[in-house]
Amino acid sequence: MNRYIYVNGRYQHYIDATIHAEDRGFQFGDAVYEVCEIHDGRIIDESRHMARLARSLGELEIPEPMTARAWHRVLRETIRRNRVRNGIVYLQVSRGAGPRDFLFSGVKTAPTVVCLARAVSPEKQARAADQGIAVITHPDMRWGRCDIKTVMLLPASLAKQKASKTGAQEAWLVDGEGCVTEGGSSNAWIITAKGELVTRPTDQAILKGVTRTTLVDVLSREGLTLTERAFTVAEAKNAAEAFITSATNLVMPVVRIDETTIGDGRPGPHATRLRALFHQVAEAVPAAQ
Ligand code: PMP
Repeated sequence: MNRYIYVNGRYQHYIDATIHAEDRGFQFGDAVYEVCEIHDGRIIDESRHMARLARSLGELEIPEPMTARAWHRVLRETIRRNRVRNGIVYLQVSRGAGPRDFLFSGVKTAPTVVCLARAVSPEKQARAADQGIAVITHPDMRWGRCDIKTVMLLPASLAKQKASKTGAQEAWLVDGEGCVTEGGSSNAWIITAKGELVTRPTDQAILKGVTRTTLVDVLSREGLTLTERAFTVAEAKNAAEAFITSATNLVMPVVRIDETTIGDGRPGPHATRLRALFHQVAEAVPAAQ
């Protein structure tokens, strides 16, 4: 099957989809992105993802490349052309191309917009959730504005690569105080031995995950209380349950942190239940027009 990628107004075949060599996304990591889950032909939490995209663009003073209606169409057309019913839709906006210069006030071209959609096997995801995943801890070496969803993903890429070498699926990043900030591409949660559900508050040290935000809605429906505070690696290793959240993983139980088994080594009951409830609460709008 032919795959298509939207680049600056055109749906191009995968191998032909190119951007300029002096694009600032390529040269400076001067770009932001979003990833939405596609579940049973529906886009999950599109409104929240698009609101975060607008915020990221605003923080970097990149002009909005198109209207909300136009975004809506691009997402759907990309999904339709790639015939994705379960998977992800990815979109990226860079400041655009221009002669290489640290200053961006001289960039005359419009932002570069890329959108692609890819199938992910729901069965494979379900199998991972049934078993739970392992994570490693790794120093957080990222910058001071992790609340902006930029493509500057090298520290996360290196940490996740290291995790993968040891058979783990995610790296939990650890700040100078020994507290977990978040995963390389997910938010980190624990349920302590005393039953306290904990995740880090959203400040500039972490990305405010859309899945995290929607899960907070699930919690209030379930009558669960959340404590937003930093937690240490030691606390996490002693936790009754641990899990990560992201658009690609939803709620994914964590059963090992470094060499330490969490709980009895199986996905915890809360994480499993929250995963099952997630789609009942999340916004889900059909991708087909
Ligand atoms: N933190 C980081 C660093 C991430 O890259 C991601 C996923 N993009 C998340 C958290 C989770 O965000 P979301 O739930 O919006 O996918």
